[in-house]
Amino acid sequence: MPYQQDLTTHPYLEAMSRVKGWPPPGTPALTVGWLAPEHDFPTALPDDAFLDALFYLCAHRSIIRTRGFHNCLLPHATRPAAICVVRRGDEEVRLGSAEIGVVAAGGELLLAPNLVFHYIEEHHYQPPAIFTEAVLARRTITPPAGVPF
Ligand SMILES: [Zn+2]
Repeated sequence: MPYQQDLTTHPYLEAMSRVKGWPPPGTPALTVGWLAPEHDFPTALPDDAFLDALFYLCAHRSIIRTRGFHNCLLPHATRPAAICVVRRGDEEVRLGSAEIGVVAAGGELLLAPNLVFHYIEEHHYQPPAIFTEAVLARRTITPPAGVPF
């Protein structure tokens, strides 16, 4: 997963639109949380309501699945497990092989690797406010039936 500055054009979605017919051509699709260790990012302590809503998306609304797992490359005090697993309550999710998507208030699609949950919980990455608002509002991207996400 290459680094992308927040709120820049998603690198793959336009091609998906051409091939799969979704999202509709011309729909703005922007990246959130495509982090890399050589690029600084804003930080803040996340609140529980936001983490709850984000965890739900990662556990139940992941899209654009890949076959392999991408792990967090940010610095850790101890070596992380090969696959990033996060827990919330009784539920457990393996991160790093899908994205989550929400719709901003202005209609833009905002797509983040589902590792964004780990980035926020563990590294205190502060995503753009329009992403936080869309997650809390639970405006989830729902591709139409037949689109193989
Ligand atoms: Zn990490």
